[in-house]
Amino acid sequence: MAMKDLLVEDFQDAVGELLVRHKSILDLLSKYQESTARVNRAIVKAVTTCGCIEIDAKKQNIPPDATLSELAELMDTHLKGHLCDDCRDIIEKEMGNNIFYLANICNTLGLNMYDILIKEKEELDTLGYFNMK
Ligand SMILES: [Zn+2]
Repeated sequence: MAMKDLLVEDFQDAVGELLVRHKSILDLLSKYQESTARVNRAIVKAVTTCGCIEIDAKKQNIPPDATLSELAELMDTHLKGHLCDDCRDIIEKEMGNNIFYLANICNTLGLNMYDILIKEKEELDTLGYFNMK
């Protein structure tokens, strides 16, 4: 088993051992949703409180004759600037918390996160540009 495999498996095992208070799938689902909102909030605060990043959004201007492979270059993130160290730390912490609850949902449903990552990677490799997420 490669190092990356072990990291994902170790993480999933560790979070399962640490979860005591929110054992119910209902608590897990609502905590997962709350943690997603906290990730979004941390990103918004990087814009509205810190100001290290800005959002400059407008309609995507895509020529009608653009090819699929050109879309990646033509589509704008609407994001300007770079995360400062403080905002990066906060967002990473919230994302870690989000992954914690996702791992616990996987544990509760008997799903293996590493298998999910592999399946997703295989789908990306197979579909390439046609995987229009
Ligand atoms: Zn910042």
